[in-house]
Parts: sequence; structure tokens; C-alpha cells
Amino acid sequence: MYEKTEGIVLRETEYKDADKLLTVLTREHGKITVKARGVKSGRSRSKAACQLLTYSEFTLLEKQGRYVITEAVPKEMFSELRTDIELLYLASYFAQVTEAVAQEEDASPELLSLLLNALYALAKLKKPQKLVKAVFELRLACIAGFLPDLRGCAVCGSPSPDRFNITQGVLQCASCGNESTTGIRMPVSPGTLEAMRYIASADAKRLFSFTLSDAALTELNGLTESYLSMRLERGFFTLDLYKSLFL
Ligand SMILES: [Zn+2]
Repeated sequence: MYEKTEGIVLRETEYKDADKLLTVLTREHGKITVKARGVKSGRSRSKAACQLLTYSEFTLLEKQGRYVITEAVPKEMFSELRTDIELLYLASYFAQVTEAVAQEEDASPELLSLLLNALYALAKLKKPQKLVKAVFELRLACIAGFLPDLRGCAVCGSPSPDRFNITQGVLQCASCGNESTTGIRMPVSPGTLEAMRYIASADAKRLFSFTLSDAALTELNGLTESYLSMRLERGFFTLDLYKSLFL
């Protein structure tokens, strides 16, 4: 049976001859693996649409739960991301994290829209990389079921705690310590905390619409990156690649 779906390519795997296997986050089916025939050939009309980080309309043929692409038309290629190595590595990290949390045959419009909006913010709006990365990491953690409790100190209730416990996903004061405050605690300044609350609760359309000093963005990045990798219990080689650019 033929059907059309829109989706973004999260991963390309070399396959035999001129074929590729693609991992695609689609609007209707969540994450799926599709075979793209002949797309390594220069003559393929679907070549551009089947590249990593391209958002395309795919015509799929489904046979016993396996998908083959019969036609693919690119809708947004985010070409700005392909000519800048920092942006390309960061965007590849977003794709790898998305693949890690996306479920097969389970549509998640929120996840798809977060990834597309993050790529748009990087490529078109030229938002600071640190801001986009922090928003993506924290919001993705929320979507994946790891919404942190950012109301106040989890021990004394103070509205202005100065530590974020990334192991537990709660706020604490440096001075509040008891048997429940185990785990890794990282300093969080008031501006950073405000940004975290914004990212966790803002409307998807306004998610990237805030500014923060570079120092606060650096602190925020350390927190969101550590929190996400702690919660997902893994690292990402694309993130290591991206960070190696700044060593
Ligand atoms: Zn406290």
C-alpha cells in the first residue's frame, strides 16, 4: 500500500549498491526505518530529499511492516547547517538525541516540532548555539518524561534555591542537606533558573524567544547537557564531536 508522510532524516546508513537505509522521524508513524533505493547515485531524483537533516515528503510503499521510499521531495533542507561545521555537528547531535528518544510507530508531534524548530532557530534565525542547545536539551528531557520539578527547594521550599540536583531533577539550596539530597548538585544562578522555568513551560512557538547573558547561557548549557545525559543514561558521540571543536 502506498502512502505519503512528511518526516526528517535522523540517520543515513550505507546499504548495498546505491541504496541507503534511513531512520526517519515521521509525522504519522514516529520513528521508522525505510529503504531508499538508488539514492547514492547522482541520477536519483530523490537524492537530496534523503539526506541527513532534510525534511521531506516521502511516498512510501509498505510491505509486511517494511517501508520502501518510492518518491521523496525535499521541503526544507536547512542548507545553512551544511556549510558550517559547528552547526552541522550540533544539528547532528540533535538528530542523534531525537533518534534515541523517539519510539517506533508512535507519533510524537511535540518531538518533531521541537527538532524542526531547533534547526530553524539555528539555520534561519541565527540564534546563539548555546541558547538553542540548552532549549533543545531541557525541552526534550521534558517531552521524554523527565520534567524537572522547578518550583522551589525540594527540602525547605525556598523559592530561590541555588542548586539543581541533576540526579533527582529537583532544586535544592546549597545549605539544605539531609539524607534526601544525595546525587550530583550543580550551581544554578537566578537568571539561569528563570530560563529553565521558561523552557519547561513556554508555548512551543515562543520557546527560543528569550535572551540571556553569555555567562548564564554557559551555566545553563552545563546543566541541561548533564541533566539530559544523566536521565537518558548515555552519552552521544555527535556531542563529543561538537565539543571537540571548542577545545
Ligand atoms: Zn532549601
